[in-house]
Amino acid sequence: MTSTPSTSIPAVNETHRVKLSGLKMPTRLLLGPGPSNADPAVLSAVSLAPIGHLDPAYLDLMDEVKTLLRYVWQTENPITFPVSGTGSAAMEATLANVVEPGDDVLVGVKGYFGTRLVDMASRYGAKVHTIIKPWGQVFSLSELRTALATHRPTVLALVHAETSTGVRQPLEGVGELCREFNCLLLVDTVTSMGGVPVFLDEWGVDLAYSCGQKGLSCLPGISPFTMSPRAVEKLNQRQTKVTNWYLDVSLLLKYWGTERTYHHTAPVNLTYALREALRLIAEEGLETRWRRHQTQAEYLWSGLAALGLSCHVDPAYRLPTLTTVKIPAGVDGKAVTRKLLNDYNIEIGGGLGELAGKVWRIGLMGYNSRKENVDTLLEALQQTLSSLG
Ligand SMILES: *Cc1c(COP(=O)(O)O)cnc(C)c1O
Repeated sequence: MTSTPSTSIPAVNETHRVKLSGLKMPTRLLLGPGPSNADPAVLSAVSLAPIGHLDPAYLDLMDEVKTLLRYVWQTENPITFPVSGTGSAAMEATLANVVEPGDDVLVGVKGYFGTRLVDMASRYGAKVHTIIKPWGQVFSLSELRTALATHRPTVLALVHAETSTGVRQPLEGVGELCREFNCLLLVDTVTSMGGVPVFLDEWGVDLAYSCGQKGLSCLPGISPFTMSPRAVEKLNQRQTKVTNWYLDVSLLLKYWGTERTYHHTAPVNLTYALREALRLIAEEGLETRWRRHQTQAEYLWSGLAALGLSCHVDPAYRLPTLTTVKIPAGVDGKAVTRKLLNDYNIEIGGGLGELAGKVWRIGLMGYNSRKENVDTLLEALQQTLSSLG
């Protein structure tokens, strides 16, 4: 049977052909755990016309991004580049490349993102060991030493800035400890990079990742990644292939290194955005930027105290980028966040896990870490609390 080719187009199912007007979104002040507002200059950069991801002009841009990432992280690691994806993709890239089935991985769990590291490491076949603290506390060096001596892991993973609790884990001395026990140090800097002092090389960090939409005031979808020469050694000694094609650094380096061959299409416009965000950080200077975050956070904390509210974390370990505020007895925390969003266009976060229903989470990250934003929030919070009784 032969059928004659027809040029007629078959009838289309029109059920899902909804008619919409052009996109309009509310303007929000994003003072939650993320995303935070992108810098307006970043929004201009992202709207520039895309060019090819192998265009010489784009290759220059990639080099600029790598250099500026090294500045913001204070590292000389040659392998420092952004992963295409959100922070979780860069998080997965760290584990995927150095963990082989049967490897012992020790994770410090003191909040939500520690549990995510445990889950990810186990998916790559690691024998995962944990050291656990209540949400809102940090690990001491001696606790880490004991855990390293007990489990003898190949990787120790810690979250520097726990966005679920508002805690900053001190990292001084941890790198030396990891060298003593011959293991790699993996650190989540998602809510610290660009807002809190981070010195990857001085601290002996071997693997780190971050994201675009928090302290860098860029956009979600592009995420810094770095690995030290020690971590590269572990990658080179693998007996098995990296079990994640998309995040395999040995493949990604063919594009981000000198060969410049196609791996996957880079999110060109997000790279523009990241380049602009990093340029602004370099223009401001890290010390000025870190001081700004600390000053605005302290201003927030004193304003909260004046409203009779208290913070969940000891001031010694409190993050300037993310503050957990105790919800007072008798107050409906969700009603407050809902009213702030609906009536004031302000987003703050609620608690996760152990802290669900117990705290609000207030982010002051990057571009958003400014006095006028703190004033706006405190006034809205005061009015909201008094109107809800
Ligand atoms: C937000 C966050 C992540 C995950 O980043 P995404 O961009 O949401 O994928 C990981 N770790 C910490 C500490 C975070 O705050």
